[in-house]
Amino acid sequence: MITPARALRGSLAMGLVLIAGALAAHADVIHLQGGGRYRGTIVKETSREVTIQTAAGTVVVPRREIASIEKEESVQQAFARREAEVRAKDDPDAHYELGRWARSKGLEAEARRCFERAIALDAYHRGAREALGHRYHQGRWYTEEEYRRVVQGLVEWDGKWVTPEDRARYEQGFIKDADGTWVRPEDLARKAEEERLGRERGDDAERGQVAPPVRDGGRAPAGPTPQPGRLEPPPPAGDTPGEDKGWYQDNERVGDIDAVTPVESRYYRIRTNVKPEYARRYGEMMDRYYLRFLKVFREMMPAGTPGKSELLIYSSQREFMQAEGMGQSVGGFYNTGNKRVTAFHGLFGMTGTTREVLSHEGTHQFEDIVLQGSFGNAPIWILEGLAVFFESAYYDGKDVIIGLVPRDRLAVLKRGLAQNQLIPLTDLIRTPQPSFTAYHYAHAWGLIYMILYYGESKTVRQRCQQWFSELFQLSRRGRVTAEMVEERCGGRDKFLELEQRWKDWLRDLPYDFDPREG
Ligand SMILES: [Zn+2]
Repeated sequence: MITPARALRGSLAMGLVLIAGALAAHADVIHLQGGGRYRGTIVKETSREVTIQTAAGTVVVPRREIASIEKEESVQQAFARREAEVRAKDDPDAHYELGRWARSKGLEAEARRCFERAIALDAYHRGAREALGHRYHQGRWYTEEEYRRVVQGLVEWDGKWVTPEDRARYEQGFIKDADGTWVRPEDLARKAEEERLGRERGDDAERGQVAPPVRDGGRAPAGPTPQPGRLEPPPPAGDTPGEDKGWYQDNERVGDIDAVTPVESRYYRIRTNVKPEYARRYGEMMDRYYLRFLKVFREMMPAGTPGKSELLIYSSQREFMQAEGMGQSVGGFYNTGNKRVTAFHGLFGMTGTTREVLSHEGTHQFEDIVLQGSFGNAPIWILEGLAVFFESAYYDGKDVIIGLVPRDRLAVLKRGLAQNQLIPLTDLIRTPQPSFTAYHYAHAWGLIYMILYYGESKTVRQRCQQWFSELFQLSRRGRVTAEMVEERCGGRDKFLELEQRWKDWLRDLPYDFDPREG
């Protein structure tokens, strides 16, 4: 008679099928010659048999035993039939009702079509409007998008609706932390790391700063103060070649920064509204820097040719402060979000220049190229030490000479050494970025300078460079911790040994040390 696919006897199978049939409101029904029936979903039909999935199992019914088959109308079929009826009337309410039915059956696209049809027939059909999520405001219906844009004045950013002010911040690469404060992603990561380590929080005002000044710790304590009666190291003055600072005084603005055509140098795309000859000069200068960066990082460069780096240089500090919402103490910044260095043409603070800002922040920009976006993973002392190293250069209008000793930095280090107040290097490598003071910057520079130029022993220098290169490359894969820094140095003891060598070397390092002569 019937052939149950599973080991079910005819009568038992039938009983279960009937129960299942009562539960399933919609089903296909196979009426049997003998008077029984199967309810379920027909899953296969051939010329010889029909397979039906019932609540009790799958049953294969030979065609010759089937009296008739009643197939359930699919919801799509039902919708199509009802839609044809509704269209014939073109009544907005009927479309709306059909839309509600379609939505209840999970036919969302069809439902929306009905609601839109209702609105086409009656623009003020409240039910259809609300079903589509439209919003009413002062006598008008708006789509969700129109409402955000027109009524609330919002703009889109990354799939979200935000204020134009917020979007500008996002475009600059900032993000909001849990308190709604704007921070840079890497700062947030550092902050989290710092909290994880249970370190004391320092000066919160400093921390909340969205973009650190170019001499990021410039206002913080610069180390031990000179003590009267003690023999002090020579003051940081003397015969440093005088850089041309005259052009920084010429803040002529040649147009709107947003309207200017960027100047292209070999490695940079510079958007600036300074005089064209200055723009070209920045291009030439930064190209020189780029070659110097390449040299220091030559073994760490990722495959392929990186695209041009972007610089944005305002014609004056005033313009920069207004456009970027920055305070007086900010000389410029590098943004890891849009990969751009932003600065202004002019003197900064007491002695700072645009060259210093561009070279410091340009170092970070280049570090980010090497690290391929893993900027936040690298040890702060390396990132900042290198930035200070490149900042301490001299541009003679043609070439950039790097490797000069920043006298003020070396002076505080020598003073700290003399007074036994240097920051232990084991502490330095554990200091998070927000707690980096000018004194930390000096140490970071000193350590980088040793890595690059230590002259007492070639073997030590090579080991140092290997260490630096490894740490930098490790940063691409994940956060480099202080423990990793020590471990890669050969362990804590080796690291302490390195510290002693560093101190001895610093003590004797002349202010006019010229690495080119070594
Ligand atoms: Zn920096």
